[in-house]
Amino acid sequence: MYRLVCVSCGADYAPDAILYRCSRCGHLLAVDYDLDTIAVSRADWNARPLSLWRYRELLPVAGAPVTLQEGGTPLYHLTRIGEDLGLPRLYAKHEGMNPSGSFKDRGMTVGVSMALQLGMTSVACASTGNTSASLAAYAAKAGIPAVVLLPAGKVALGKVAQALMHGAKVIAIRGNFDRALEMVQDLCESHGLYLLNSINPYRLEGQKTIGFEAIDQLGDVPDRMVLPVGNAGNISAVHKGLIELLRLGFIDRLPMMTGIQAAGSRPVVDAIEQGLAELVPARDPETVATAIRIGAPVNAEKALTAIRSTGGTAAAVTDEEILAMQRDLARKEGIGVEPASAASVAGVKKLVEAGVIDRDESIVCVVTGHLLKDPETVIRQCEPPIEIDADVQSLLSALSL
Ligand SMILES: *Cc1c(COP(=O)(O)O)cnc(C)c1O
Ligand SMILES: [Zn+2]
Repeated sequence: MYRLVCVSCGADYAPDAILYRCSRCGHLLAVDYDLDTIAVSRADWNARPLSLWRYRELLPVAGAPVTLQEGGTPLYHLTRIGEDLGLPRLYAKHEGMNPSGSFKDRGMTVGVSMALQLGMTSVACASTGNTSASLAAYAAKAGIPAVVLLPAGKVALGKVAQALMHGAKVIAIRGNFDRALEMVQDLCESHGLYLLNSINPYRLEGQKTIGFEAIDQLGDVPDRMVLPVGNAGNISAVHKGLIELLRLGFIDRLPMMTGIQAAGSRPVVDAIEQGLAELVPARDPETVATAIRIGAPVNAEKALTAIRSTGGTAAAVTDEEILAMQRDLARKEGIGVEPASAASVAGVKKLVEAGVIDRDESIVCVVTGHLLKDPETVIRQCEPPIEIDADVQSLLSALSL
């Protein structure tokens, strides 16, 4: 049993309302479960395979979900990077191992399932790339049409390729993500498409399971969870889920929620550093980490609460620091991620060097998307292949042997 509740004024709405914002005050809505009616134990959960659907009692989907088998992603111990940084308990949860290659699949399996449950027949989103790739795939699985709005020229190649191949109607607008989001909200309101950006309360329900899985895999609550922050939905979602576990008595403390942004797009970091109650949008966000190139994060209010109430923090990393950590993850740990994902680990490096993070903390970084999402940024950073004539002598001399 659940209701939709305004995160600001507490007004509540029936679960079948097609509503993304409080009609009283305009703030976002969250799914609020009657936890007393939830009869499940951790032993029940542990008996099921590691997957988003292990936690179905804390998800709003009633019937059979639209699923591509999301979740159950690996939690890697970062031994070499951890040693470099003096952090023996540094881990990365590789969300790039989801069906379409990012954590957005957790949101979309729930979001698209709910679209059908609510009787909606088409879906839409604005996207920096991964949301569109994921929505396109889940809409295909559901057999319904999807419309995706992208900022023209600012979406990594792999993500556009996915949205196109899965058959979404792909519209590139001459404007940034923040503008695309305004436009798609208008479209959904006027033409009855179901909106699956992270203002959709159901999408975040799926995403909160990252935290559940991380705790189950670690066998303990990490001292800190570190996430890259764009629209700030994911960090808010993980925090919400962990509060539910706390209220159920399944855990006894919360990790310090820590958000990392790019130096060219850091409104949440500014709000934390300056102690602002509300965020000042970044007008022209710019970063190589296009997945977090967002100036006006719609979930900022919840993210600020998540960070402040858990004693966490926020930090910004430069594009150079992001790309250097993308290479370190790839070359020292064998983990291939896209730039935005490397921001979380780059942020840990920065915070440990600044003395903000203690070396004995256990830390789970969420690395959000797969290396192959953004091949162009990879190619720009790496030496090209060495092309040779097809003979052994050329091969040996290319290898300096
Ligand atoms: C969407 C996305 C983010 C940002 O998540 P938010 O919920 O918007 O803060 C970070 N990394 C990747 C790879 C993403 O696709
Ligand atoms: Zn309200």
